[in-house]
Amino acid sequence: MNKKIAIIGGGLFGTTAYIALKRKGLNCTLFERNKDLLLGASTNNLNRVHFGYHYPRDDQTAKQSYYGYVSFKKFYKESIIKNFKNFYLIAKNSKVNLNDYLKFCKRNNLSFKLIDKSKIKFNLNNIQGGIEVKEPIYDWDIIKKKTKTLLKKLKNNKIHLGENIKKIRKLDSYEITSNKGIYNFDIIVDASYDQSNSLNKNVKKKNKNKYQLVVVFEFIPKNFKKMGLALMDGKFFSFLPKGKQNKHLLYHVKHSIIKEKICNEFPSNWKNIKKYNSIIKNSKKMMLKDLKKYLPDTKIKFTNNRYINPRVLPAYMEKSDKRISKINEISKDYFQIFSAKIDHSVDISKELLKKIK
Ligand SMILES: Cc1cc2nc3c(=O)[nH]c(=O)nc-3n(C[C@H](O)[C@H](O)[C@H](O)COP(=O)(O)OP(=O)(O)OC[C@H]3O[C@@H](n4cnc5c(N)ncnc54)[C@H](O)[C@@H]3O)c2cc1C
Repeated sequence: MNKKIAIIGGGLFGTTAYIALKRKGLNCTLFERNKDLLLGASTNNLNRVHFGYHYPRDDQTAKQSYYGYVSFKKFYKESIIKNFKNFYLIAKNSKVNLNDYLKFCKRNNLSFKLIDKSKIKFNLNNIQGGIEVKEPIYDWDIIKKKTKTLLKKLKNNKIHLGENIKKIRKLDSYEITSNKGIYNFDIIVDASYDQSNSLNKNVKKKNKNKYQLVVVFEFIPKNFKKMGLALMDGKFFSFLPKGKQNKHLLYHVKHSIIKEKICNEFPSNWKNIKKYNSIIKNSKKMMLKDLKKYLPDTKIKFTNNRYINPRVLPAYMEKSDKRISKINEISKDYFQIFSAKIDHSVDISKELLKKIK
């Protein structure tokens, strides 16, 4: 029997899983509460395609990104952008010193060119040293177009846009209640990211996660060209070009966080973003101050665009900074995708296929 599979959430993880499962002839339906696919975290982030450089305190995360990229590239090649300089710099007060960082890169096959601080075009303050890398970014618009092209090639698509799943119950099969109807499915794939624990509360005792509301700012560089720079390792900033555009995206480990809480579900009272306007204004100020502390000559102009999205992290992982994507079978035939980095999405869909088959 061709079991009925419901995939909840049309972000990159849910959509990739849908494509992979449909290609194998499985009977899937994709539910997305928004009017279109890929409007959540997958296109409101820093657009980095992680190779692993960001995780010197956890080799497992680095490895998942390194290998994940190989499959991601096959699926979403056109969205990957490489035509810019990209640096990882180690701050003097970093959690990892430069030597250990270089050892980490070598251990994980992460290639790099050591930078000569005296030859670099911009002034650096409070920096031990750093490396130049070939880690790319992905373009949000191109990846949206690419998923649409891949979807068009499939037959009998069942994609329900604007359909918000409100409740899931385990009866003989799984009963799903949405704003539009009630359905029965044999298998659930939950790719709803921040809403995951709210959906499964009738099926499983909830585990705690770290929930955040995060802002990424957009800026135009005034005295440098397309460039990426990540200051490591701790509560520092990173910026990257924004896809194919001339704009850049700026994120800060501390100042980007508007709200943060370790709890069982994404707090529903965080949805009214307007009430955080003053926090967001202050975040921007603090980020600029930090930028000047390490890169005193940089001149940037913020645009009016900023990208705010929930983020879900494993609770109590500060020490290792582990960011692993995984599939939890929280009940028989109920698969919860815990996503971490976008280039893990294709490998996760392959793993899902094995589990379902
Ligand atoms: C600020 C920020 C910066 C980041 N930077 C990077 C980065 O540079 N590189 C990187 O690799 N990763 C980054 N990440 C992490 C990455 O963006 C996420 O891990 C990834 O996008 C999650 O993909 P997803 O498909 O699980 O979630 P999403 O893309 O959020 O998709 C979930 C979908 O589920 C839908 N949904 C939710 N509930 C329901 C429901 N009840 N019914 C129907 N639909 C529902 C949502 O509308 C949404 O479309 C960042 C995250 C944030 C927040």
